[in-house]
Amino acid sequence: MILYYQKIKQYINDYLSGVLNISNFEYEVQLKQFAQQYNLSMDNIKNLEHNFSLTKIDFIPHINKVRRIIKVYKKHDIIPFFLKCKLLKNIDLFPLIFELKIDGMMIVINYNNGVLESAITRGNLYSGENMLDIVKHIIPNNISIIDRLELRCEIFMSTITYNKYFANKFNSARHAMLSIVSNKKSSIEDYLKLNILVHDIDQNIKNIFLKQQTDIMCFLNKINLSYVPYVIVNNENDLNNFNIDLIDDKSILHDGYVVKINNLRLQNLLYESYSNEYRYSVAIKEIISFDSVVKNVIFQIGKENKIIPIIEIDLIKYGNLKCNNLSMYSMNFFLNERINIGSKIVVFFNGIFVYGYNNTNHEQYNGDLICPLCFHSFVIREKHGICENALCKNTIISIIKAFSKNIGINRMGTNTIEALCKMNIINEPEDILNTSVILEKYNQQLEQKNIKNFKKNIIYFCNTINLYIKKIKIYDCLFLMGVSRISYEKIKLICTNYKSNIMSFNFDNIKILNKLQINNLNLFFNNDKNKKRFLDLVNNFCN
Ligand SMILES: [Zn+2]
Repeated sequence: MILYYQKIKQYINDYLSGVLNISNFEYEVQLKQFAQQYNLSMDNIKNLEHNFSLTKIDFIPHINKVRRIIKVYKKHDIIPFFLKCKLLKNIDLFPLIFELKIDGMMIVINYNNGVLESAITRGNLYSGENMLDIVKHIIPNNISIIDRLELRCEIFMSTITYNKYFANKFNSARHAMLSIVSNKKSSIEDYLKLNILVHDIDQNIKNIFLKQQTDIMCFLNKINLSYVPYVIVNNENDLNNFNIDLIDDKSILHDGYVVKINNLRLQNLLYESYSNEYRYSVAIKEIISFDSVVKNVIFQIGKENKIIPIIEIDLIKYGNLKCNNLSMYSMNFFLNERINIGSKIVVFFNGIFVYGYNNTNHEQYNGDLICPLCFHSFVIREKHGICENALCKNTIISIIKAFSKNIGINRMGTNTIEALCKMNIINEPEDILNTSVILEKYNQQLEQKNIKNFKKNIIYFCNTINLYIKKIKIYDCLFLMGVSRISYEKIKLICTNYKSNIMSFNFDNIKILNKLQINNLNLFFNNDKNKKRFLDLVNNFCN
């Protein structure tokens, strides 16, 4: 036990002396893990902490909750992004302010009656670590303004300082900055190697004194504070020609740029209409892009059984990343991007994020839409690709999911259904009703039994089906056939009011169906196999 105490003592010592380079929050989490691992109470550990002369800096609350800046990835998304706010329709958004997105650490600085009061890291948006002891050496401690002023700033190290003092010790200027602010042994000389630039002030002050974002730069200048480097973009033409080099201060490490609406009245409309993010400013991530050509389009089954288009391109390598195919997320996205075989596209790399879009105006995709499971063609319904082949596994999964939802099996069932279909335990939708066969087949497949809770889920699922089986109606049987474009409610209606028509496969006179639905029913039941499936089901399960 003494050994454990010594370990924790060392751990706390490392943390307080800055050897351990983690945030307060991470420290608390680690400490709890320690306590669990060595079976100590948190009180024991807190007592140890108090034995040290140094005291830990606590999280302190922000006056206003810190909001996030929304990221977009393409320059041409900026205007549509702002116009999503209905209030801004028909309003000229220009000029826009393009600012450097400094790769440092965000910090919120508060002055009260002109006196520097607090400097808090972003933390968890509601509270952060107090950085006052560091920040007071870098920016003015007194300014000539009454009442309160909240500044959102970036603390960073210039690449000039980095190259001069830290290039042999740290990988980047950002690492060097983080080391200085987190090391409790850092000196005032170290702090003076850091810079702070302001990138926004709180909305109240703006509305009282200022009309435009550019006024903020003048205002800050008067009180001896500096704004991040920026340029003004006046119209759509300037926007198209914008290049980060136009604002790039070569001594500042950046990872993109931030675009803000200059007009503070418009900013305020956007600020007040949403609560969690700064809607008047958009961060554009700097990304590495490659030109490429679409070689082929294939389709895969994604979550929720929707068909996901994948485009194949020549292999691109960037750092550790390799890429020769890109997910297009959904049929809707894919069709909107107008990607076709042979399309010239731009592929973006951004960390682990890979993204491709069409940079010229091609026709919408006109190749085959082939279901990856059954190789039948599929249709696009409500912007999703859906296979309508009644015997396609994809279709079967969809039908069973819809059916189980209708009879009240909760979401726990969907994974079970998919697994049962993939294990070939269920091959047709109506197999779901033969629960004894499901359990028997499952017990034969030994290798699947290690899936956590799977057996429990199957038994639960089968029990729920069994409860329903005594109440099964003709409309349930018809629904399980999966005739496309007819809802459960409509099927209920026709089976109640046109029972004889249904049982004799005579659909033409069912007035509540439209032509397409009648046509689909006729097509489906022209196949004698399907007739037999349906009649067997009715005879087996309905009285
Ligand atoms: Zn299919």
